[in-house]
Amino acid sequence: MENGVYVYLQTPVADVIMDGKRITGVVVLTPKGLEELYTSVVVDATGDGFAAMRAGAPFEVGRASDGKCQPAALEFTVENVDNSHRFFCYGGSDPVTLPDGRRYSEVCKEACARGELPENVSIVRIHHTLRTDERNINATQANGFDTLTPQGNTAAEYLLREQIPIVIDFLRKHAPGFENCRLKSSASTLGVHETRRFIGDYVISDEDVEKGARHADVVVHKAWFLIDIHNPAGGGQAEKHSQPATLYDIPYRSLLPKGIEGLLLSGRNISGTHRAHASYRVMGVAIPTGQAAGTAAALSAQKGCTPRELDYHAVQQTLADYGVQLFTEGSSC
Ligand SMILES: Cc1cc2nc3c(=O)[nH]c(=O)nc-3n(C[C@H](O)[C@H](O)[C@H](O)COP(=O)(O)OP(=O)(O)OC[C@H]3O[C@@H](n4cnc5c(N)ncnc54)[C@H](O)[C@@H]3O)c2cc1C
Repeated sequence: MENGVYVYLQTPVADVIMDGKRITGVVVLTPKGLEELYTSVVVDATGDGFAAMRAGAPFEVGRASDGKCQPAALEFTVENVDNSHRFFCYGGSDPVTLPDGRRYSEVCKEACARGELPENVSIVRIHHTLRTDERNINATQANGFDTLTPQGNTAAEYLLREQIPIVIDFLRKHAPGFENCRLKSSASTLGVHETRRFIGDYVISDEDVEKGARHADVVVHKAWFLIDIHNPAGGGQAEKHSQPATLYDIPYRSLLPKGIEGLLLSGRNISGTHRAHASYRVMGVAIPTGQAAGTAAALSAQKGCTPRELDYHAVQQTLADYGVQLFTEGSSC
């Protein structure tokens, strides 16, 4: 605001304004109705790639074999936990055991099979919060809903909210220290792991993530997370376990949607395969893609060119000036 920037909070983008294949603005929904905003560059950070979709950029949804996406989920927080047990579980591969020696992940699976946990909820992840008597629970799971439709979104959220008390009953019964836990709060809406993935000038491949690809036009260096595919067709992981990834680069070209000018992708909607997305979709990678896209948008506006015409070296130089590390010493690029 000090720089004369007018910020529109709580103002969803309802459509885009196009001049042929070039995006020239967005239509936003304000408390007074629709308003047109004209701009030289748009950064799509909507997760679902709403602006890119309306601009006509090509995209894919789900895995190649059947188009199914990772399930939706809704996290919640329980309080009144007895912390003397220090009981946590970060995922299905976490080797945490109960006081009687049984592996907690097996207890979850058995409870799911008995119907004591909802269908497909075969692991109840128990994470830290900033308070020792609280835990954040990542367990609920809604498979097979099309969250790109209002009907799918609503039905998934109803199902996820119905699962919360069932998961709490399970925790009270099985998790040490959770005997008297109660619901404190839940996410304001469901969370969606996967929807549209756009086809960019470069599509980040499975191999890039597995082997740690380096790119001359790197804008995020040392991106990393496991290939974490929450099962689109059941409980647990799609590939039994999360698969390993090697620190990799996100190239500038993967932020440029094919065939559309004036538009940059960022976050989980950038260009990559279903398996690559399962690694780069996380916050630690999504955030620097946003910084790179924002930097490229500002430079394009300053130089009067489109993001595709922009020399990626200028983006790298600006990021480096902020202190972002883009290259590892000794590497060829
Ligand atoms: C249950 C769950 C647990 C997860 N756990 C982890 C974890 O432990 N660690 C981790 O790193 N990642 C985790 N992730 C993944 C991570 O949260 C997301 O993938 C990441 O937030 C993606 O960031 P993003 O900015 O691309 O999209 P989002 O964070 O989804 O942000 C998109 C924003 O755009 C807004 N928006 C959408 N449409 C419009 C529109 N038309 N106009 C204006 N605004 C719009 C949305 O309201 C939203 O605020 C989890 C995801 C889920 C669902």
